[in-house]
Amino acid sequence: SIGPPNGPLSRILDELHARFGPTTDGQVASYIPELASADPTLFGLALTTMDGFGYASGAAATEFTIQSVSKPFVYALALADRGMDEVLSRVGVEPTGDAFNAITLEPDTGRPLNPMVNAGALLVSSLVDGATAADRFERIRGWLSAFAGRELRVDEKVFRSEQLTGDRNRAIAYLMRNAGALSGDVDEICSVYFRQCAVMVTCEDLATMAATLANGGVNPLTRRRVLSDELVGRVLTVMTTCGMYDHAGEWMLRVGVPAKSGVAGGICAVLPGQLGIGTFSPALDATGHSVRGVLACNELSTRFGLHLLRTA
Ligand code: GLN
Repeated sequence: SIGPPNGPLSRILDELHARFGPTTDGQVASYIPELASADPTLFGLALTTMDGFGYASGAAATEFTIQSVSKPFVYALALADRGMDEVLSRVGVEPTGDAFNAITLEPDTGRPLNPMVNAGALLVSSLVDGATAADRFERIRGWLSAFAGRELRVDEKVFRSEQLTGDRNRAIAYLMRNAGALSGDVDEICSVYFRQCAVMVTCEDLATMAATLANGGVNPLTRRRVLSDELVGRVLTVMTTCGMYDHAGEWMLRVGVPAKSGVAGGICAVLPGQLGIGTFSPALDATGHSVRGVLACNELSTRFGLHLLRTA
């Protein structure tokens, strides 16, 4: 049980911050040039509970780009727009055991393996309803904002930086289109996806976004329903099996809750019915996850017995 603000939970976040802050492991992402200038020592931790209490420590007000943490939320939007059967026919739900940017597609069909890797996320983003690419993006931005409970904006520098250098994602999109899996203009689809990745959040926003999923789709701060219960279950399922890419198995073994990470250093983790966790620290491990974020989630899970499959 979690307790009121300034109670033991705040002290524990401060303690985790002090304990893992000094770590020098990991490197900031540099394949998107604009991300290379991030300060690797930044570290923020936040929790949002079902009754709308927020707890934070460290760089909790620092904005960074959401990157791949957007993927489960935009998957939810595509499910809401198109229904599960149509989305499943276009994007699988099998874990890859591969890196987030792997050029791995189903043989023959070109269908991406799951919505958490780049291939699947590009396809999912193309399935969002909207008359134009700008409309699709505006719906995505509004949707992410509803989860966060405030208007989120785009970091145009990070967007442009990825737009100028994102040839690997463009290549994946062309392969999917060549196989007949993706339809539409590749440059437009990539631009919407890059903009989606460049939406700015804080770790407090990620905690609230996670808490909205934990709370069955109702944002615990605004009290607005963002997503149906049924779709929350589907999104959490895919986060559980695929959210942490080639670290998904070990993450479930150690931490045991659905989560998603991004290359700017964000992690959001969901404890259904209880709380949302958001962490931010830009230094990444070899699988592209925030070093301090993984350490902090591990410790929180151990300390509070958060593993969903524990029996005692
Ligand atoms: N925009 C990034 C990319 O497509 C997102 C990757 C990530 O956060 N893992 O490469």
